[in-house]
Amino acid sequence: MPANILNLSCYKVLGIRENEHDYHIDIEAVETPTSCPHCQSIHLVGFGRREQMVKDLPMHARHVGLCIDTRRFRCRTCARTFYEALPEIDEKRLMTKRLAQWMGKQAIKRTFASIAEEVGCTEFTVRAVFGDYVNELEKTIRFETPKWMGIDEIHLIKPRGVIANIQNNTLVELLPNRNKDTVARFLYHLEGKERIQYVAMDMWTPSRDAVRAVIPQAEIVVDKFHVVRMANDAMERVRKSLRESLTPKQRRGLMHDRFVLLKRERDLNDKERLNLDGWTKNYPELGEAYRLKEQFFGIYDAKSLDEAQARFIQWQKSIPSEIANAFADIEKAWGNWTMPILNYFDHPVTNAYTESLNSLIRVMDRLGRGYSFDALRAKILFAEGAHKHKLSWSKFERKERRQSEQEFVAMYALPGNFKHFKMGGTFARMTPESDPEPKPYILKSTDSEKPEKNYGVDISTLIRIIENGEL
Ligand SMILES: [Zn+2]
Repeated sequence: MPANILNLSCYKVLGIRENEHDYHIDIEAVETPTSCPHCQSIHLVGFGRREQMVKDLPMHARHVGLCIDTRRFRCRTCARTFYEALPEIDEKRLMTKRLAQWMGKQAIKRTFASIAEEVGCTEFTVRAVFGDYVNELEKTIRFETPKWMGIDEIHLIKPRGVIANIQNNTLVELLPNRNKDTVARFLYHLEGKERIQYVAMDMWTPSRDAVRAVIPQAEIVVDKFHVVRMANDAMERVRKSLRESLTPKQRRGLMHDRFVLLKRERDLNDKERLNLDGWTKNYPELGEAYRLKEQFFGIYDAKSLDEAQARFIQWQKSIPSEIANAFADIEKAWGNWTMPILNYFDHPVTNAYTESLNSLIRVMDRLGRGYSFDALRAKILFAEGAHKHKLSWSKFERKERRQSEQEFVAMYALPGNFKHFKMGGTFARMTPESDPEPKPYILKSTDSEKPEKNYGVDISTLIRIIENGEL
């Protein structure tokens, strides 16, 4: 008999049958049961056999089926019968544990259909295995609750809620929608929610209501980006309605008007400035709209909350009645969201976060086809290598770590840093148990006792993974 090609030492290979598409490998368990599972008696006699077909990892581009010759025993003491227990076999399905683990990992980055084809099972099975795999990950991967939280919208087939850690530029959750109930339920179950200090969001009332209801201590901040874009929109409305009233010849005089008008005044070159001056003379409304847009952006140059509010009131008074309609949305939003908008001046949200979120929204369109929301969520939240870790210290984790007995740490020094290999315990949260090689990670400090925190999915890494088509 050839060596154990299965690399499953608890089974003996009895024979191999093969055709173009499949391997059928006959095996039996090496260990024979020594006692009755019902009464622990050691007086057992053979009582027949049955053959069980179990799927295993594909090999040489063929499907692999293990035909396990399973023995049945009868206990002489209690007279009951039982089949021998089969090691390394999934408890829920007729497949090896390692196949289930592999399928789960693969399903993060591949379609269910392609995995089903490679393994020789149905897509339904892949989906079910993936569901279990994700449930296991959920139990073991816990993202730190952000002190500065972002609640925004992202489009994945439909508009979804995205929860971010602003200080770390990471995603910590995707919600199926942005209804008040959905956001409130998420916040309610969040460990450490009472420590959330600021929540940055766009002007979406259900999110605000959920935050006020569940984490009333958190200050709501509307990011500058979401506010000033309204000024661009208002100016665009004026420009479009003007164009509609013009003759084709007049319209040609407004070459690249959208591009020039959306620019900030300080960024205009000489030619653009000249064009703008000409348009302003011919079409005073357009000039007024541009001025209002620029002055609205100027509110954000205010050095304090009070100054910003004063600038807004000044700005509001200067809106000419002819174009007031186009700017009505801004006035309304400012009225409904005054404090969250002004809070920005005390707690400016980092631009890095808003920018990276916008880049993510742009590449997100590449995802989405052929997956359920749950699968997409898992793909994004559990994308391999995208989690951001920063080492810090807390009493709770230190205690938890001491209690973890299986964990061992072997480390050796490298110039300037330590390479750190861990198995079991904390690290096993990141890599499934069967992972053959624990991956190294680098400690920034020399304190080997510091536990690892997980701040969620690094947005820029995620963007790179999506752009490379690896998700
Ligand atoms: Zn017995």
